[in-house]
Amino acid sequence: MSAREKLLHWLDTERDRQLEFLRAFTRIDTCNPPGDTTEAADFFRRFLDAEGLTYRTEAPQAAMPNLISSFAGPSPGRHLVLNGHLDVFPVGDRSVWKRDPLSGDIVDGRVYGRGTVDMKCGTTALLFVHAYLHRLRDELPGRVTLTVVSDEETGGKWGADWLVRNCADEVLGDCVLNTEPSGIHTVRFGEKSMLWVRFRIAVPGGHSAYPHTSPSANKIAATLIRELEAIEAMAPDEPEAVRQTLERAEVQQAADRSLGEGGAGVMRRVSVNIGVLQGGVKINMLPAECVLDVDFRLPVGIPRAAVMEAVAAIVARHPMVSVEELLAGNPESTWSDPTHEMVGHLTRNAAAALGYPPQPIVSLGGTDTRFWRRSGVPAFVYGCSPAGMGGIDESVSVAEFHHVLRVHALAACDYLMAGASAP
Ligand SMILES: [Zn+2]
Repeated sequence: MSAREKLLHWLDTERDRQLEFLRAFTRIDTCNPPGDTTEAADFFRRFLDAEGLTYRTEAPQAAMPNLISSFAGPSPGRHLVLNGHLDVFPVGDRSVWKRDPLSGDIVDGRVYGRGTVDMKCGTTALLFVHAYLHRLRDELPGRVTLTVVSDEETGGKWGADWLVRNCADEVLGDCVLNTEPSGIHTVRFGEKSMLWVRFRIAVPGGHSAYPHTSPSANKIAATLIRELEAIEAMAPDEPEAVRQTLERAEVQQAADRSLGEGGAGVMRRVSVNIGVLQGGVKINMLPAECVLDVDFRLPVGIPRAAVMEAVAAIVARHPMVSVEELLAGNPESTWSDPTHEMVGHLTRNAAAALGYPPQPIVSLGGTDTRFWRRSGVPAFVYGCSPAGMGGIDESVSVAEFHHVLRVHALAACDYLMAGASAP
């Protein structure tokens, strides 16, 4: 049997084992906050032990361990990195769940539980991909490294960001596969970046019956919001490969299908969310202060500096407004080449099962892949449908779970094999 045939054999004959692992993983509480993933990490270690895989733990926070498991084939080649996270969103109000959020129950072909979509399904898939590639290690050139991280839901400081900063030699590699929920109709080669800004409006204030004595901080906020919304019209200067990809009609259709109607447009422009608006203390007082926390999401081709320049021009018209940047991503490196060979491996193997190829798009939300892209390593995301992620009665399709596992296993194998001739 060829390596690929062996892979297909394990993918098919071990479906029950794969599914039971996902269910058992779902039953382990990894909600973040608090983000304690020690039990889940133990569960992964036991699997790696059973498969004869070596690993080590990197835990800058004791309750948030990260696992690194790596092996090399008999000949030099490419270094493929697999990345998934253990932690999941909090459950919230448990009483509104129809099913136990830690049940792992299967109903109508879906596994139920918090984090099944984001991303216990995907992380389980990559664990099995890693194990199957390890069984083929005598036939595969190059190296495979699995990174299973914690702290993704709260920013990655002690997880993927930590690994990329402190264990670069081990975890950077040549290409990264990630299984965050992308929807099986799309492969995500990039993501929008975040820019969080606080605006504080301060005026004298006073009695509401004396509007001639002071401006109103709240009314200034209303004007400011309208002016900030104009930033959504900024035209991105997309790199040629990105523009050509995102302009294709089939890509836009797939983006709408994956992100929801209208998602294709949002993918390519700045979005301005007035997340917090706090002003005034009493109905009959002129508000002296109003604070706006604004979440800008920047598409590929609009750098942070361009948005901050537009913000500065707006604020210059309102001398009573001060600006504080709360958080900025790194928009210069949030995308990988949409024509990268790995996109071909993922889409070809997915198309063989789906009957049509998934299309390359840019993600609206962020993933840990940004830490690799920041370091210049191409990274690609292909995962189950994002529908219901983080919501009440979260559940993942069993069929999509097996599909995602299969596509990543075959794409990884193809990528490593191709590295024998073209490192
Ligand atoms: Zn996630």
